[in-house]
Amino acid sequence: MKIIKADVLGMCFGVRDALAIMDDVRRPDSVTIHGELVHNEKVLDDLEERGFRMLAETRRQALPMTDTVLITAHGISAKERTRLADAGKKLIDTTCPLVTRAHHAAQKLQAEGRHVLVIGKRGHVEVQGIVEDLRSFDVLQAPDEVRTYANTKLGVMCQTTTPTRHAEQIRAAIKAKNPHADIRYVDTICHPTKDHQQALERLMNEVEAMVVVGGHNSNNTRQLLLRCQERGLPAYHVQGPEDLRPEWFEHVEAVGLSAGTSTLDETIDAVESALQQISVERLVAA
Ligand code: SF4
Repeated sequence: MKIIKADVLGMCFGVRDALAIMDDVRRPDSVTIHGELVHNEKVLDDLEERGFRMLAETRRQALPMTDTVLITAHGISAKERTRLADAGKKLIDTTCPLVTRAHHAAQKLQAEGRHVLVIGKRGHVEVQGIVEDLRSFDVLQAPDEVRTYANTKLGVMCQTTTPTRHAEQIRAAIKAKNPHADIRYVDTICHPTKDHQQALERLMNEVEAMVVVGGHNSNNTRQLLLRCQERGLPAYHVQGPEDLRPEWFEHVEAVGLSAGTSTLDETIDAVESALQQISVERLVAA
């Protein structure tokens, strides 16, 4: 069985930079990570072992116990930043610059008097951080959620990890339901996400099945899987080599390997080795 890796896969610069900042923290036990740094359980387990304290994403309303709070690559709202600062917390900020760019885009659309439509996953921390600073907004997950809006000045933007095709479908629905509106679109999908998705598109033409490595909570990993499913390609989500099942590949001659933007290189390598092992065992058994 041939194993073909996507030309672009795995950890993006935003997550790498966040982890590098954490490597420089001298006393991890004095720092609380405000939500999940990345949606990858292995990375989170390692951080916990190093002594970092963590506040679950669903419990971010509570104030962290430590004096220092680490803002994750997903960012937070200006409102939340002020709340933490007012409580005397010192902030270590690892917000990805491309998330910051999305915040600025939302603010600019709002300053223009537009009702802001955020294409993204409702409740996702990045989306939450963006909409907490908006007065007039809707979060759109699917084209059938689009309405005719009372405000005829609309501003449209995306969660950074939105698949381009998905954003286009929702934009088309906005235009169809609001034919007379003044609509301004700002493309805030990050380039690492686009690169991953384009690499997946190319790879799908060459393989009969796909393995996607990433955390169960990872939105961009899930999007890669969904795209394979849309194309009718069998796709398997694994967090590590232990999740692979040889029976998935019984009649597969070429399998693709992709990974979400928070997946460690070592995890991708381990999955690739395990796939090679499955291939060798199949040859021996033949
Ligand atoms: S997925 Fe994009 S926006 Fe998110 S951390 Fe990575 S580079 Fe930044």
